Amino acid sequence: MLTYTTGEGNYKDWILGEDEFCLRHQGKGESIFCLANGYMGIRSAHEEPYPFQTRGLFVSGCFNSSHNETVELPNGADTCEMLITLDGELFSMTTGKVTGYSRRLNLYTGELIRQLQWKSPKGRRYELRFCRTVSRANVHAYGLKAEICPLDGEADIEIVSGINARMTNSGVQHFNDGTKKVLDRQYLYLDQTTTQSNLTLYHCCGSKITGATPEDRSFGMQRRRILETVRFQVEKGAKGCYEKLAVLYTSRDLAEQDEEQGRGLVLEHLENLVEKGYDRLYEESAKAYGAYWKEHDVRVKTEHPGIQLALRFAQYHLLGMIPPDSRSSIAAKGLTGEGYKGHVFWDTEVFILPYYLFNSPMKAKQLLEYRMNRMERARRNAGKKGYCGLMFPWESAESGREETPLFASMDILTGKAAQVWAGIKEHHITADIAYAAWMYELATGDNTFLENGGELLIIGSALFWRSRSVYVKERSRYEIHDIIGPDEYTEHVDNNAYSNYMAHYVTRQAIHLLRDGDGKRAVRAEEYFQETGILEKLEDFADKLYLPQPLENPDGVIPQDDTFMSKKILDISGYRNDNIKQTILKDYSREQVNNMQVLKQSDVIMLMELLPDLFSGKIKMANWEYYEPKTIHDSSLSRAIYSVVASDCGESEKAFASFLHAIDIDMGQNPYSSDEGIHAASMGGIWLAVVRGFAGLRIQKDTLYLAPCLPKEIEEIQFHTVYRGKKMEICVSHKNIHIESRESGEIPVKIMGQEYRVSHNLDIKY
Ligand code: BGC
Ligand code: BGC
Repeated sequence: MLTYTTGEGNYKDWILGEDEFCLRHQGKGESIFCLANGYMGIRSAHEEPYPFQTRGLFVSGCFNSSHNETVELPNGADTCEMLITLDGELFSMTTGKVTGYSRRLNLYTGELIRQLQWKSPKGRRYELRFCRTVSRANVHAYGLKAEICPLDGEADIEIVSGINARMTNSGVQHFNDGTKKVLDRQYLYLDQTTTQSNLTLYHCCGSKITGATPEDRSFGMQRRRILETVRFQVEKGAKGCYEKLAVLYTSRDLAEQDEEQGRGLVLEHLENLVEKGYDRLYEESAKAYGAYWKEHDVRVKTEHPGIQLALRFAQYHLLGMIPPDSRSSIAAKGLTGEGYKGHVFWDTEVFILPYYLFNSPMKAKQLLEYRMNRMERARRNAGKKGYCGLMFPWESAESGREETPLFASMDILTGKAAQVWAGIKEHHITADIAYAAWMYELATGDNTFLENGGELLIIGSALFWRSRSVYVKERSRYEIHDIIGPDEYTEHVDNNAYSNYMAHYVTRQAIHLLRDGDGKRAVRAEEYFQETGILEKLEDFADKLYLPQPLENPDGVIPQDDTFMSKKILDISGYRNDNIKQTILKDYSREQVNNMQVLKQSDVIMLMELLPDLFSGKIKMANWEYYEPKTIHDSSLSRAIYSVVASDCGESEKAFASFLHAIDIDMGQNPYSSDEGIHAASMGGIWLAVVRGFAGLRIQKDTLYLAPCLPKEIEEIQFHTVYRGKKMEICVSHKNIHIESRESGEIPVKIMGQEYRVSHNLDIKY
């Protein structure tokens, strides 16, 4: 059971915890308590080993392919493991008796603490406390601390710990054996190089004992492992403390240095860290976290338990997943697990990027740069498939080529692995990325962005869609055939509304850019894409692209695609409530599901979240009412979006109910929800549901727009944002909106249709 209310005083609503150790449910805590700083992520597996544990260390953007399989983020060597022997008995929470167990992740400081009392099988009692920090102040540093207090007499303690390079990704080994060394007779060093991508991870760690005198320290090497054994004695009631400090670098960070210099740098950093000790490492990191929260904490006044915590939990993970630079982007599970192999999906641009856009626009730009750096690949990809412009991969990693595996889960009818069509037909990502680029442009007015690739990205996306469509003479219109929209339970359809509308939107923006640029943009684009007359071609495409319109019966519903409405309807209530996702695929084959009106996730509603001004409240609600009961929400990308669109329609009860489901995705009590890592998009979704949904913050045309729809359970929402380079603090309650800015100059803001200019303070009653 997770606990949400243990934080007290200054830490109220900052602590997520558990008060029970369960062997079978370790995956949940390993993921949700994961410590990450954007550069690396370490799953919070307990120090001592247990069955059902999945230890993990992932470095952003360091991919490898083993035996020609799809590339993935390899699981690096583990330094957190400790074998602890207390008076000759091996410490384990599965033997003897454990009392007072608690584990707490402090979201404010980024520290994980576990405490317990252990009565050994022989009846001796000890208090143990473990702390862990992955530094936010220096992304290469992390540390652990184990405090042991014997309660029944002096204790002989032995700790065996080191660097363990026997880690695999579910059995797949990604590294060749590297060098192992004891440096300066006290530090452990191990490097490991990936088998195909030739990236080296340099690990170095050291330890120190406080509160006791080490009697003995010895070192040992085994295959793929280097260890130290430390023995010390602690008096009854005293605290013996073993601190382990570690640094991690990769060959990407040390590209300028030769091997010797690189190793020297790593060692120097470690020496410095060991000298400082765990507490200093923690303090520096906590300070960096504090600075972040000061600028970005979203405060929610509510009596409802867990909401404030859920927002901070989401922001904590959003921070842990953002890479230091544009060499990499965000994986579907951040750096918290092996799920989806560390690949980047549309999750980043559509669910996560908006958070950064309104909080740290430079980080949003960085995420777009990751795509722009892979534009050449996207251009080649389009060409290879017979299209024009840019075609971005559904799943992306280092190179920018398509990384989606061809086969995944089992087809219940054939018993064989089912083909994954997403990598072949789920093309909307190319519109999603261009949409995000345009949003960035609107929110920042950053002209250099357009010149440095942004314009080509948007124009290239429009060109792709034109070539991806077919002109149907008898209907005098362009249509988009054989495609998969966001709802992956519906494949191979014509005119998926989401894809058609998004393609149209992006094409309109491309036309706007082309018309706006003294013809220079057109010249640059025609040269890059080796095509002539692109403005005319895109104008013709935008004019004639088919956009599915609301039906008369059912009134106002936009058909998800050409055949959706003729498919039969299934009662899916059982599947919606399952703890385990995608169980419908255990009863029906993919093909059978494809022939029913069953949605995995929001699709038409997703469109309405992204392009809210295209549809009236009445149309939006008609679609919500039609599609929501048919949606299983088997993807974590669903609930938050239903929540936002309900808020847009003024349906705060529906919005709140969907939001409660959204915050439960990782932070709820389902013990299996997060085994393979947290759901990165869902973290963005939680923020979206509150700030985009309840507070109603978005961009309308080129103005910042606010239209709150607070549920009755939430009294007030207070958050920081930045628009066109100006920072402001916004506070929204049921009757008032208050905007404060310390910036010079005026900021135009539209509030529920009315225009205002904010210079310092703006108070609106509504
Ligand atoms: C997802 C797809 C993904 C595929 C392979 C499926 O479960 O729904 O989006 O491409 O796995 O990773
Ligand atoms: C969803 C996709 C999503 C992917 C990665 C799939 O289950 O259907 O929309 O991009 O997971 O999170």
